[in-house]
Amino acid sequence: MAVQTVATSSDSTVDLGPASALSCRECGHRVPLGPVFACEECFGPLEISYDFSAYDTEELRRRIEAGPASIWRYAPLLPVPADVAGKPNLNPGWTKLVKADNLARELGVTGGLYVKDDSGNPTHSFKDRVVAQALEAARAFGFTTLSCSSTGNLAGAVGAAAARAGFRSCVFIPHDLEQGKVVMAAVYGGELVGIEGNYDDVNRFCSELIGDPAGEGWGFVNVNLRPYYAEGSKTLAYEICEQLGWRLPDQIVIPIASGSQLTKIDKGLQELIKLGLVEDKPYKIFGAQAEGCSPVSTAFKAGHDVVRPQKPDTIAKSLAIGNPADGPYVLDVARRTGGAVEDVTDPEIVDAIRLLARTEGIFAETAGGVTVGVTRKLLKEGLLDPAKTTVVLNTGDGLKTLDAVAGTGLTATIRPTLDSFREAGLA
Ligand SMILES: *Cc1c(COP(=O)(O)O)cnc(C)c1O
Repeated sequence: MAVQTVATSSDSTVDLGPASALSCRECGHRVPLGPVFACEECFGPLEISYDFSAYDTEELRRRIEAGPASIWRYAPLLPVPADVAGKPNLNPGWTKLVKADNLARELGVTGGLYVKDDSGNPTHSFKDRVVAQALEAARAFGFTTLSCSSTGNLAGAVGAAAARAGFRSCVFIPHDLEQGKVVMAAVYGGELVGIEGNYDDVNRFCSELIGDPAGEGWGFVNVNLRPYYAEGSKTLAYEICEQLGWRLPDQIVIPIASGSQLTKIDKGLQELIKLGLVEDKPYKIFGAQAEGCSPVSTAFKAGHDVVRPQKPDTIAKSLAIGNPADGPYVLDVARRTGGAVEDVTDPEIVDAIRLLARTEGIFAETAGGVTVGVTRKLLKEGLLDPAKTTVVLNTGDGLKTLDAVAGTGLTATIRPTLDSFREAGLA
């Protein structure tokens, strides 16, 4: 396998495996790998380009299948050094792809319905995938502090990854997040700062901090390390296809916060097709939002190319980004693949959390309620084909958003006697 080393501005070299350069998603301008995220020509977002030309399909497939039961089985397709699996990290990924036959019956899906359950990651959300990539970039660029702006799950993933890898962490969240998310972020011992404002305020603050001496030497996983971070979402695409027996699903339903995950899952599927690891056939990508924060679905339904920011108001706080950086790219993917973007109300989210729990024994956080709820809605609208193989993402754990299902509790309280049990009508 070809391993490239690239000179950084400080003249040291970085080893990020098959990653060859950063290229602008708008104008295509290329720059060497470094901790930069915006194009110097047009201010467009940068993303990773690779050199996969040396790969032989069958050899690559064998190498992946022989790899570890984590995202690192796909190291040859990620911006990480070849020996990444040996470095201290949380080894996320290779989560379950659950064949959801009970849910399929309930929803009338006949073509095979699967839940990709990312609550099984080390900090119980999909964010461990993206942070693992950013951590390797931080190592390569010599940062010693990991930071981020977060809607909750990212804060915990950064705190845990930093703890394990021996980095300092200092992360920023809206001050009013769910208790479960705050505790999950704080327990790893890093610094956790609540900002009086919503996620978009937190993000703006972090952008200022990056330009200030106070933020020097800091790797913000979703800002100056964003191009690397974002690539972690491709592993969801790789895993889904490999777990289906190296087959593309026909339809995938993906939650949208910034939209990064959705666009990179599409990038991952495209790569698998180009590498010959799956058959080249059409697939459709569907985006899911909460009605209380639905800038992308609003633009999709209106036929707009521009995503107008909203002020979020929803229980799906992990998805509550009112000004999603990848919004326009999500619209492109949904339209190009023949998918759609849809949203559901807070009561529909709660209902869908309960539906998934009672049919499949999977307790999803609100983001999973959003994808399951949107799946049900898209089926009703005829936009999802019930006869096709469909994958729905659950990206987080219900234990972090217990408030969403408050009111769920005891069936009865009885004395410890059989009489009392019978009186309660449970016999
Ligand atoms: C962050 C997050 C997402 C999606 O994030 P993007 O910014 O769209 O990549 C989805 N689900 C959960 C639970 C998350 O925490």
